[in-house]
Amino acid sequence: MNLVWLRNDLRLEDNPALHYASKQGEVCCVYTVTEKQWLEHDDAPAKIMLWRDRLLALSDELAKKNIPLKIINVDYYNDISAELFSLIEKLNVDNLFFNIEYPLNEKKRDKHIIGACEARGITVHIYHADVIHPPGRVTTQNNTTYHVYSPFARQWRKQLDISQLDVMRAPAKQKKIPCESDNIETHWHCYDREYRDDLWLPTTKAVQQKLKRFAESNIEQYKALRDIPSIPGTSTLSPYLACGAISVRQCIAAAREHSENWLENTWVNELIWREFYRHLIDIYPHLSRSENFKATKNPIPWQNDERQWQAWCKGETGYPIVDAAMKQLIQTGWMHNRLRMVVAAFLTKLLLIDWRKGEAFFMRYLVDGDYASNNGGWQWAASTGADAAPYFRIFSPERQSQRFDPEGKFIKKLLPELSDLDKKSIHTPSSDQRKACGYPEPIIDYKFARQRALDGYASAMGKVKTDSE
Ligand code: FAD
Repeated sequence: MNLVWLRNDLRLEDNPALHYASKQGEVCCVYTVTEKQWLEHDDAPAKIMLWRDRLLALSDELAKKNIPLKIINVDYYNDISAELFSLIEKLNVDNLFFNIEYPLNEKKRDKHIIGACEARGITVHIYHADVIHPPGRVTTQNNTTYHVYSPFARQWRKQLDISQLDVMRAPAKQKKIPCESDNIETHWHCYDREYRDDLWLPTTKAVQQKLKRFAESNIEQYKALRDIPSIPGTSTLSPYLACGAISVRQCIAAAREHSENWLENTWVNELIWREFYRHLIDIYPHLSRSENFKATKNPIPWQNDERQWQAWCKGETGYPIVDAAMKQLIQTGWMHNRLRMVVAAFLTKLLLIDWRKGEAFFMRYLVDGDYASNNGGWQWAASTGADAAPYFRIFSPERQSQRFDPEGKFIKKLLPELSDLDKKSIHTPSSDQRKACGYPEPIIDYKFARQRALDGYASAMGKVKTDSE
């Protein structure tokens, strides 16, 4: 028997582990529910519930192929081994197949299982399903890892062989085997059901339609529209890429089909950013330990003011664009990329609150929470990451708001109390307007905060301060 261990690859098509296992013979799938581990990883209830619903949809598709889906329900990754080997014995498994996950805890889990399989004479087959180029394969001429995105992306494109975009077929229907699928729904306990399941449909049909619609209608305008949060200018496929309902290969193949200059398309750039962060997470374990990618000379003087932290979390900072963005996150489980940059820069630079707090908060709400991309995004904003924003680049929330939400349409949608304000004052309402709307005063003065960040970061980076910065 061939056992496929499903994880962040919840799809039938373009799933190498499933594809190759089914070529080998009879297949059974297993999924491991590890709720206490997920809680420790700060995974959001919305994300866990979407993954569960996605697994339910996938189990129906597997059933049509006569492929049973078993569930192992334990607390932590460390508890998987005993249950997995009991299943392996019961099913008489001689081959275990899975696709690789790159963060450290997942790699440690897999290393342990691989060792135990080898000791028992079970062959393990592993694949890279979450990237086009496996980590470590896109390197500089000196064979070192790129720390800067642009040359990485150039080399990524150069190395791309069109055959890498061939999407793998779903497994063929197999003969019925004497193994029953488990009931999936009974296995989820820690989380309640509340998430915006109207926004995040779990079926393959819904996900493929979303990709098709985006590729047909938006991909060519993506560059122009992607920074405007009031319009649906981006794909909103991130939750599906995170759980693997869709693969990066399927996305790039769709770009190739629908965009003229597809390889240079800005949307493909974003998928390469995703891959860049995956390579870094795989190669640098300290990133999985929440350490700065680049050590600073002196510690960044985090203030971690509790009142300001709470105001940021609730979307009550008195900066409309920041507050509207945080409401979007809390209400939908998703936030527009431009706004992720704005709120992360606000927290780390203007409030001088440690990026790790923001990173964990995002994970606790994001339906697309993804360790590599989230860590990459936060370290970019905090200027501690590989190819991060320079420390002296301090976003002005007012300026960002004027540029990317000029009419205040996005702000008004998420902060209806400000809906009567005109397009000039919506970005920074006056004290009288705030009182009239019941909207808070800014929790920090921008000019003061900017200077404090410049001084604090300059000393952390070991730079001599200059007034022009
Ligand atoms: P599109 O614009 O349609 O892009 C297509 C896909 O490319 C996305 O679905 C995503 O998989 C990938 N992508 C796009 N932008 C980036 C980026 N900057 N870095 C890495 N991959 C990218 N993305 C996550 O998937 N999970 C996270 O937990 C996450 N946390 C973030 C935290 C911060 C502070 C920042 C600045 C960014 C974060 N991102 C994260 C990246 C990005 O914001 C989201 O991927 C994007 O907003 C998802 O929307 P979309 O699917 O419409 O993206």
